[in-house]
Amino acid sequence: MAKSAEVKLAVFGRAGVGKSALVVRFLTKRFIWEYDPTLESTYRHQAVIDDETVSMEILDTAGQEDVLQKEAHMRWGDGFIIVYDITDRGSFEDVAPLKGLLDEVKRPKHVPLVLLGNKADLDLGRQVATEEGERLAADMACAFYECSACADRVGSGGGVAEAFHELLREIRRR
Ligand code: GDP
Ligand code: MG
Repeated sequence: MAKSAEVKLAVFGRAGVGKSALVVRFLTKRFIWEYDPTLESTYRHQAVIDDETVSMEILDTAGQEDVLQKEAHMRWGDGFIIVYDITDRGSFEDVAPLKGLLDEVKRPKHVPLVLLGNKADLDLGRQVATEEGERLAADMACAFYECSACADRVGSGGGVAEAFHELLREIRRR
């Protein structure tokens, strides 16, 4: 099995969208309800993707950083997940500015990116239609998933692990 160098993933999105829950879900396949929302953590993980072992570092940002901190995180990362909460339109409106900053920091490179609409289990409180997420992802030329950190699979949109794996494939294609 081929082994590749460590890749750096960073997870962005407004505080409360479920970044920590998603990262822990991916790492442990478990859902944990409460994290300190001000906490920023990095994790080391290995996954086998298409018969290749990938080592990664994952940065779970707090979502309350100032622009300078955000830029530093963006310079650090090789690939990015931007998360919004389907029940919080404001968190969706935060996505485009984050992508704008990412493009500025990484210019002229095209950055591996996945857009994630989280909390798809809360369909009753939905404020952002699936089609809106799809359209935004098309605008940003990135993959899109709706998912839930607390359910294995929601609809046909794929789960949390699929989103991370897609990002890792995208990085490998670069
Ligand atoms: P972060 O600030 O982006 O890291 O968000 P957290 O991971 O701390 O989650 C914020 C809140 O949303 C917590 O109360 C979580 O339990 C809850 N949460 C996270 N993901 C989901 C999800 O997929 N579905 C539901 N129903 N709640 C979630
Ligand atoms: Mg968090």
